[in-house]
Parts: sequence; structure tokens; C-alpha cells
Amino acid sequence: MPDGRHSEGPTEKCGVVGVSLDDREAARPLYYALYALQHRGQESAGIVTHDGFQQHSHVEMGLVGDAFDEGDLGSLNGETGIGHVRYPTAGSVDSSCAQPFSVSFKSGSLGLSHNGNLVNADEVREELAAKGHAFTSDGDTEVIAHDLARNLLEEDLIRAVKRTMGRIHGSYSLTIMHDDTVLGVRDPEGNRPLCIGEVDGGYMLASESAAIDVLDGEFVRDVKPGELIVLKPDGSGFDSYQLVDQENTAHCFFEHVYFARPDSRIDDNLVYDVRRELGRKLWEESGVDSDVVLPVPDSGRAFASGYAEAAQDEGAGVEFAEGLMKNRYVGRTFIMPTQDARERAVRLKLNPIRDVVEGKTVTVIDDSIVRGTTSTQLVQLLKDVGAEEVHMRIGAPAIIAPCYMGIDMASREELIAAGQDTEDIREEIAADSLSYLSIDAVAEALGESRADLCLGCVTGEYPYDIEGETTDREVARPEIDGAEAGIADD
Ligand code: AMP
Repeated sequence: MPDGRHSEGPTEKCGVVGVSLDDREAARPLYYALYALQHRGQESAGIVTHDGFQQHSHVEMGLVGDAFDEGDLGSLNGETGIGHVRYPTAGSVDSSCAQPFSVSFKSGSLGLSHNGNLVNADEVREELAAKGHAFTSDGDTEVIAHDLARNLLEEDLIRAVKRTMGRIHGSYSLTIMHDDTVLGVRDPEGNRPLCIGEVDGGYMLASESAAIDVLDGEFVRDVKPGELIVLKPDGSGFDSYQLVDQENTAHCFFEHVYFARPDSRIDDNLVYDVRRELGRKLWEESGVDSDVVLPVPDSGRAFASGYAEAAQDEGAGVEFAEGLMKNRYVGRTFIMPTQDARERAVRLKLNPIRDVVEGKTVTVIDDSIVRGTTSTQLVQLLKDVGAEEVHMRIGAPAIIAPCYMGIDMASREELIAAGQDTEDIREEIAADSLSYLSIDAVAEALGESRADLCLGCVTGEYPYDIEGETTDREVARPEIDGAEAGIADD
């Protein structure tokens, strides 16, 4: 394997789009939509279009703005197409995993963009390999493409997708192109988001509704768990097929806490509203009467404004202040070789404003703690510039276990909350107090029952059979000390 990684294939932590238009080229809308989803993946970007006769594909490593030039967009002919941005994972700089995956079979041409992670990809790959399928990558997406192509030899499109959905298990939001027809599929648990939008001259599918907004489109609705959406190739509408029914969903709560954009709407909730509500609940559960409340920019902002508002509603004299400034040029792709470098990166990324915190009691609000690098550094930084007390309040429950469903976190042994209670963690990060939000508060803010959420990273109990699964970080462990992406984005 080019990067010495695992046999199960990298997980896909990504953004997907698809458009079907009438009388308009698809490439540029796809490009803008991918720009809106850049936060979901910075390792590679790609677009595949179909002009009614053949597929056109352009996939590059790097950011959307760097991956395509005018010439590339001009050569992506056709009024239908799909796109993909891929998340960077430890040790992987592997262009064979860049997407959309495109291929021609006897049954026609296929393009596939995948967000999620299959838990039985190895098994399906081995079975298909035994039947003569040759694989060019170790990714899940190619497994789905081969299975679907095989089913298409015997079935019509809808039945073929249904059969593939019966064979693959795990989390997947897919945009698929079969010749010039664009499809969207969401796994039966609806783990990763996928929504439908109406745009000028047609319809689109996207991981997040912010991608519909940038095209001045109208959000139509979320794709339902287990549903297949077929966009009409002439852009006149879409058909829906509920192919698999499941009693419970397994929506990822962490999409709302950290991963998705606050201006996106996922499963009937505006992410911004959810974050503010989580902030309010954080005050209700563990509010501390300090002089100022500071968000960790950017993702802590909505939490902190909800927290401060709830405090003020109760008459607490807590002032909301932007006391931490973020250097936006220290990005997600900043690769740090050592813990020392990760700490330096937090220092480069976040700078406290002395005048806002000096001589004050301070509450810092962040969305989550993963390894604890950010919190430890922040407490120290704030004390260095004269904060009297530093209280950490976290808008999510403690992360005690890795994510196997498509969010890049840390391996179990790197998680500060794995095997430690809140008091141990408080001591380790040297805060005056520390509180996390309860799991019940998260469920309430989302308006969902616990049974309908994937809470694997905060309970260690997963809604999928993860036996034998490893996270990218766990399998990359031998290399990780030498090359690891360790800095949080915001
Ligand atoms: P850490 O410093 O390792 O404790 O990470 C916590 C910080 O990382 C918080 O500021 C979060 O906003 C951010 N964060 C949480 N999850 C992720 C993720 N999957 N990728 C990058 N950053 C994250």
C-alpha cells in the first residue's frame, strides 16, 4: 500500500454533491457547491460530469480553489455531474483514494462520491475479487461501485441500488452518476447528512444545505434514511424510492457540534440554532458566574452566545467577549510531527487579548475536547495574560471513544477523556473548573431520542457492528509519531 496503511481501506470523511440541470453546464455549479463544502475535506477535490455520450472527470489533490482552473472546468462537459471533497487523514496522501471514483463497466459508466465509512467493505471486496473484479484502490467507494456495476448487469437501476444497499453496511451518503442520471443515497440509519435542493434550471443533492445556498437555490428537504433519490436528467424534478426501512436512525450528533457549517440545515435543525441551544443548556447544567465568557473561535462562538444569553436571562452579569483571536491562515491541513509542534500550532493559531481578560474571571467555551491540546494551551495562555480564574465549559459530552463512522478524531489512547473522569481532566488541563454537556441535553437540543442518534464517541457503544474495525488514526499509529495532523481546525 502506498502509504503503508491498513488493509481495510481509508474511511471517507467528506462532502458530496450532485446536480442535474437543463440547458446549463453542471461543472461550475458543482465547483461552487464544493467550495461551500470545503470544510468537509481538504485533501482532494473532484468533479465527474456526463454529456449524454461520455463521462468527463477531473480529480486533484488539494483545495477546491487549487484543484480546478478555467481549462479544467471548460473540459467538464455536460449538464449532469457529481463532485467530492475528501478529508485529510493521518499518513494518507494517496491520490488513488481521491474521488469521485469513476469507471466504465459493461453496464454503463458509473461515478461515485461517498461520505461515510463501511464496516464490511473488506468482506464485500473479497467476495467481488473472488468473482473476478480487480480493484485499483483500497477505499470503500470502489467496493460500492463494483457491487453496483455487478448488480446493474442483472437488474434495473432501482433494484440494483437496493441490492447493493442490502449488501453494504455502515454509514454512507452517496451521490452516484449512472451514465447521465444523478442519484443520491443515504444509508438506512441516516448517519451522515444529505439533502435535496432546487436550483436555477434543475435539482441538486449535497451533504449540507449551505451548498444549495451558494447556488441561490431553495432547500427542498433532507434525503431520508434508506431513501434513493433519482434526479431527472432534464432537470425537471426528482423521484424518490424508499428502499430500506429501519426502526431507528443513527444521526451523528457531532455533525451539529463541530463538523457541519452553522448555516446548514440538517435533519430539520439549523446547525447554528442547535449550537446556541447547546450553549444555553450548558449554562443551565453547569453555568459559572464569571466576569467574561470567551468563545474558542470559530466553532465555540454559537455555543458561547447561547451560554451568555441564558446567563443574562437569569440576571447573571456575564459579559460575552471575543477575547481570543484566531489566525485563519493556520489551517486544518497544518501537519504537525510532534506534541510539541501541536502545542506551538495552538499558540500560532489562538492569541488572547490581554485587555479583555486581565484581572478577570473567565469562562472559555469550546465545542469539544479531543486530545486536550487546545484546552491545556488555552488555560495556560489566559493565565499568562493575567486571567484570575479560567473555567472551561464544553458544548458536548466527553469524547471517550474513537469514531468509526467517518469523523476523523484521535485513536482511543490519545483521547484525554478515555479512562479519565472530569476531575482528572480538569487537573490535567489546569483549569479552575471543567464541565461537559450531558448526553440528554444533546438529544433534547436535537429534538431526537438517544436511540435515534449515533453516540459512539461519547458512550463507546456504536449503532453498527464495528468488530475488527480500526480508525485511520489507529491503523496509522506506527507512522503517526512521525507525521500526524494534530491541530484542531477551530
Ligand atoms: P484537542 O485540542 O485535541 O482537544 O481538540 C479540540 C479542538 O478540536 C476543539 O477546539 C474542536 O473545535 C476541534 N475539533 C473537534 N473535533 C475535530 C476534528 N474531528 N477535526 C479537527 N478539529 C476538531
